[in-house]
Amino acid sequence: MNRPLSIAIDGLVASWKGATARWVAKTMWYVYLDTGAMYRWIAWYCLKHKIDPQDTQAIIDALDDIAMQVTTQEGDTQITINGTDVTSELRTMEVNRVVGVTSKIPEVRSRMRAIQSAIGKKGGVVIDGRDAATHIIPDALLKVFLTCDITVRAKRRQLQLKEKHNDEVPLDEIIDSIQKRDEHDYLWANPTSKKADDARDLDTTHHTLESQIQKIVDRAKQILSEKL
Ligand code: C5P
Repeated sequence: MNRPLSIAIDGLVASWKGATARWVAKTMWYVYLDTGAMYRWIAWYCLKHKIDPQDTQAIIDALDDIAMQVTTQEGDTQITINGTDVTSELRTMEVNRVVGVTSKIPEVRSRMRAIQSAIGKKGGVVIDGRDAATHIIPDALLKVFLTCDITVRAKRRQLQLKEKHNDEVPLDEIIDSIQKRDEHDYLWANPTSKKADDARDLDTTHHTLESQIQKIVDRAKQILSEKL
């Protein structure tokens, strides 16, 4: 039996990387590791325990009190901290606001990466996130970076805002906000945010979610067959 692959998926803002990674994992019967959720947990913990996100030392001290358990299964990640599952509270605006600060702390990153790399080493896993290809599973045989025309991404986001929150946001405004997040993510002076040199770009401008998932699955199967 062939050893299963580890697959790293990264991409531009609103390139559907989370959904793509989750469905590639489901299709291949691999586990899916949502690294963003782990960082969101730390942010949530700080909010819950009234730890000032700017107080780096307090956050580092809190890491010793946090027993994080990450359970991965086909297409899903379940995380509990000190026995509690608060997945539904991880995507609030408050967490969004704090996570960018707390996730930059080197001690937080090294603690998260130790857990992530241990899961990645087992193989049969799809990991999405900025540093998946560069730091978590640098030896992955398949590293994909999703790109997409900015107007197409903005239209996807616009539709999502309309459908989920009934918000009518002008396209220009969304393009501007995506541009800013792209810049923040990739021009941010931190090696963590760099795209892996050996990642393959997949331009998804003319793809549906289903077809971009299929493209990655096909590539993974090809790599597996070459390894036979
Ligand atoms: O992917 P998601 O939007 O859930 O990630 C939330 C935040 O966690 C990101 O905006 C980023 O600040 C942080 N993050 C990170 N490294 C990762 C994944 C996420 O720093 N590998």
